[in-house]
Amino acid sequence: IKIMATGNINVSVENIFPLIKKFLYSDHEIFLRELISNATDATLKLKHLTSIGEAAVEYGNPIIEVSIDKEGKKLHIKDQGLGMTADEVQKYINEVAFSGAEEFLNQYKDSAKDTGIIGHFGLGFYSAFMVAEKVEIITKSFKDEPAAHWICDGSPKYTLEAADKTDRGTEIILHIAEDSTEFLEDHKISELLVKYNKFMPIPIKFGTKEETLPLPEDAEEGAEPEKITVDNIINNPTPAWTKQPTELETEDYKGFYRELYPMQFEEPLFHIHLNVDYPFNLTGILYFPKLTNDLNIQKDKIQLYQNQVFVTDNVEGIVPEFLTMLRGVIDSPDIPLNVSRSYLQADGNVKKISSYITRKVADKLKSLFNENREDFESKWNDIKIVIEYGMLSEDKFYEKADKFALYPTIDGKFYTFDELVEKVKPTQTDKDDNTVILYASNKEAQHSYIVDAQAKGYEVLLLDSPIVAHLIQKLEGDKEKVKFTRVDADHVDNLIQKDEEKISKLSEEEQETLKTTLTEIIPADKYTVQLESRDSDAAPIIITEPEFMRRMKEMQQTGGGM
Ligand code: ADP
Ligand code: MG
Repeated sequence: IKIMATGNINVSVENIFPLIKKFLYSDHEIFLRELISNATDATLKLKHLTSIGEAAVEYGNPIIEVSIDKEGKKLHIKDQGLGMTADEVQKYINEVAFSGAEEFLNQYKDSAKDTGIIGHFGLGFYSAFMVAEKVEIITKSFKDEPAAHWICDGSPKYTLEAADKTDRGTEIILHIAEDSTEFLEDHKISELLVKYNKFMPIPIKFGTKEETLPLPEDAEEGAEPEKITVDNIINNPTPAWTKQPTELETEDYKGFYRELYPMQFEEPLFHIHLNVDYPFNLTGILYFPKLTNDLNIQKDKIQLYQNQVFVTDNVEGIVPEFLTMLRGVIDSPDIPLNVSRSYLQADGNVKKISSYITRKVADKLKSLFNENREDFESKWNDIKIVIEYGMLSEDKFYEKADKFALYPTIDGKFYTFDELVEKVKPTQTDKDDNTVILYASNKEAQHSYIVDAQAKGYEVLLLDSPIVAHLIQKLEGDKEKVKFTRVDADHVDNLIQKDEEKISKLSEEEQETLKTTLTEIIPADKYTVQLESRDSDAAPIIITEPEFMRRMKEMQQTGGGM
């Protein structure tokens, strides 16, 4: 084989290779994502060229093949894409790829101090040198030109020679370095393929697998089912989010949820299909999960993709915080990746994306509420945290959610805010003409107060979420002439209502003595003692704490600064 060229890669930063090598250790694994992205790009480019008649070859059913040569300590990535001529290798690998890598490293060096870098896209082909001591490219263009073989041992020197490859496409061979032998393990490569390439658009083969054929109908009893060896394709090239909502049934959405989170056994409550191409491009599917008891365990998160390539499952800064409790996928080429989080949050596109997602979620909730109120009520407990938190943190969301946020009563009715006010206004008004909404935060502990209030004909809400104190404050600030009062607070008794006679089981004398004793042991500036009761089932003595005192304490407990 005749050597076509040897040379030096034009290095302006003399030591780019050591730099690549030293690149964040934990990110070494992205080399595989980069190389498979290139193989995918090369295949999609060929598809495009054949479709517009600019490549006179059969596109066929190309796949990308990843294989390990354990003895030779090599990892192969082979595609059937458009390939490169020797001139193109010179141009794209020695010049373009190099300058891309160099540019990336220059940019990265500055932002490295900021720990919030999200995806390390852009290093491209040269990321191979993070794990390989020598890299070969054997490539044959779809054009009628000889194949080329490029070899580089991680120094700026390379060789480029003719090769005898006859089938179209590119094979990248990585001679895995001593310190990176984990990338010669099947399970490691398999794990990375699933993590980064599970939904990439070209089928990716990694080894083979046995498949058992179903027995034919007329099979004899005891017949052994036939086993065949098939390609082990690790990805689903057309995941649900790349399809139109009209092509999908509820079952398809549930199926995709299982595909995304194979270890998650609960079904999602509902989904939201995102699909927009102006003024930014974004597709995706979000799911409201069924909450488990443990809110802290949240490893199944929203995943961010770019053109079906996994980037990260940390979407902080892209999705509003209250929606990070959701699951699913968003795919957008318009989210800058090699930037810090603070930059991300200031980015115009990202802001638009964030408010688009918020609006879609609010619209979906509203339509669920309008279409099937009963079903919406049955899901309330699982979705309320997200909605209440959203109402507190995003004004735009608050405006919409105000129409469908529900306020459940102790006895299982659900009101919207407007319905509630209308219901209680006639009977629950205080001397300043405020409508007073009574609520309990703990059914058991406040039982006697609840019974007492209900006996008066009052509606009592059950508001037991951890952020409810803050939400109440927000509502009182927003709504005119509305006050929330906890059922065991002192001014429950000051509501204007024509009351029945107060009855007490104690004689007047007994009442006096008891009252004196109680006021001695209970500090009068903190609590109010009341002996009368209107209902014989309720407690004979009621001790209440002023509403403002209680709220102060509650705010302190939940970290009042929200
Ligand atoms: P980028 O993919 O961002 O362009 P890379 O460094 O990953 O940067 O790749 C540089 C260039 O090398 C690509 O733009 C492409 O022209 C060429 N290239 C890389 N891998 C392949 C491949 N498998 N088949 C054909 N061309 C490739
Ligand atoms: Mg690339």
